[in-house]
Amino acid sequence: MGATLTINGDSVTVAPNGGYLAFLPVPPSSASRYDLVAVLGPDTVRASHAVRVLPPLPVLADTGRLVVDSGSVVPRERFWLRDEELVRVAIRAPSNVTAWVRTGDGISVPLVRASERQPKVLAMADSVRASRNASGILWQADLPARALRAAAAPAGRVRDAERGMELLVSRGGDTVRFPLVTRDTTAVAGFVILGGDSSAVSDTDRVVAGRSIPGGTTKWLLLPGTVVEATGRVGAMVRVRLDAMLEIWVEEAFVRPLGAGVARPRRTAGDARVVPGEDWVDLVLPVSERPPYYVEPQERSLVLTLYGTQANTEHLRYLGNDSTIRVIHWEQVGSDRARYTIHLSQAPFGHLVFWERGALVVRMRRQPPVSRQSPLRGLRIVVDAGHPPAGATGVTGLYEAVPVLAVAELLRTMLEARGATTIMTRTTDQPLPLGDRPIIARRANGHAFVSIHLNAFGDGVNPFVSHGTGTYFYHTHSEPLARAIQRRMVLRMGLPDLGRYHESFAVTRNPYMPAVLTEGAFLMFPDQENALRTEPFQRAYAQGIVEGLEDYFRTLAP
Ligand SMILES: [Zn+2]
Repeated sequence: MGATLTINGDSVTVAPNGGYLAFLPVPPSSASRYDLVAVLGPDTVRASHAVRVLPPLPVLADTGRLVVDSGSVVPRERFWLRDEELVRVAIRAPSNVTAWVRTGDGISVPLVRASERQPKVLAMADSVRASRNASGILWQADLPARALRAAAAPAGRVRDAERGMELLVSRGGDTVRFPLVTRDTTAVAGFVILGGDSSAVSDTDRVVAGRSIPGGTTKWLLLPGTVVEATGRVGAMVRVRLDAMLEIWVEEAFVRPLGAGVARPRRTAGDARVVPGEDWVDLVLPVSERPPYYVEPQERSLVLTLYGTQANTEHLRYLGNDSTIRVIHWEQVGSDRARYTIHLSQAPFGHLVFWERGALVVRMRRQPPVSRQSPLRGLRIVVDAGHPPAGATGVTGLYEAVPVLAVAELLRTMLEARGATTIMTRTTDQPLPLGDRPIIARRANGHAFVSIHLNAFGDGVNPFVSHGTGTYFYHTHSEPLARAIQRRMVLRMGLPDLGRYHESFAVTRNPYMPAVLTEGAFLMFPDQENALRTEPFQRAYAQGIVEGLEDYFRTLAP
């Protein structure tokens, strides 16, 4: 407290808890350390932190010995793609080289400067690590997968044929070569079953995540037991065809080949029923086999897309006199994709898709009855204290999981004082897997889910540029709750307003109820870490959330 601190000569502010946060240049490799000098009155304390500076990126000079950036070579993973699909081959090298690919059957294909390439979207384009600031330029070519195959094996020369192809870079008398190991002998071809499970059990907690590119963000959640066609593979990701217009990527671990002789599933959606329940209403849609699907909540409707499916819904029977579903329209979008638009009398509140007795069931939750005076009375709110496992730690050792649990406990007290039932995903410091949290929320039939976290930046990001309070959501039906909580947290906590973020996290993807993840403060700032140890600041965080919940649910009151 009150000490002055310099690090490598730069003065750094010390927070009242003795912590400091600085964003400083990496020391020159000659020094490789940060020297700290703290002065308080007559006392001076010195300390030194050694840092290991990675070797500088290779200088890809146009003269001297030929040096290229071997770490930039793509493709680097085994793949299996259709013959005509383009695959990018690239390397970062000096500007005055000749670079080419020699395919398995001896054909040479030149690589050109990246800026001269055809602007074409490619299957494996975006993993060129060389885009880091190495010198030199990127040389690349987009080759059909067919060209990257080993040549057809002449009799008795199978070994040679499996040699695959090479990338060569040459200048003057220097040539460097890289084998491109691309032949995939473990390809999964034909039809596969997702989730690896052929049983009729439909477990909505074991849905298989699908992405539009390998390693991309999760978008589709498919039921275990869905049969699709595998059409490609890159590394540990398998591409599956959902219908004539769409292929997506899933993890290989969730795919089980069905072997030869399996026919393409023919799916027809038949006559449907609307079955009202007390808290929800079900659309029960018989389909000859479980379909890959996507559900998109919109302002006043839910759009259900069935891939690889032909709709033949002649009768739609509305049982009872349901007030939530107004009308359902369907259209055939292309020859093997059907789209059902479910028009609602209220904004969607949450949904669940499952497979039951030969029918796809879309369960749509009704908004709960809410009173304007006590909007949380009678509701079930799921409070999720983030971590362990993982999580951030502040400079004086405060571990994220500790203060967020304190905030969660305060929130519980506040919720219960308002007549709500609280479901805590954890109340101890025992680890709770991330994937279990939305399952707990769904089984509890919660009306809202709030995951409480504290933020931190990774290395290399200047933390002083933008920090404060933020809220994450994913589905359209969660946005109003995110907005309400964000507004109240900013008022209560007094930190800068970072706004709302749309992001596909395991906990925000939960479609069954409005679900948000809050990052109320940044644990890496010593003053915020200090505040997070204190009850008033923990209370301010909880207060922001409970008031946001009240504001949101009040909008649902008649
Ligand atoms: Zn966290």
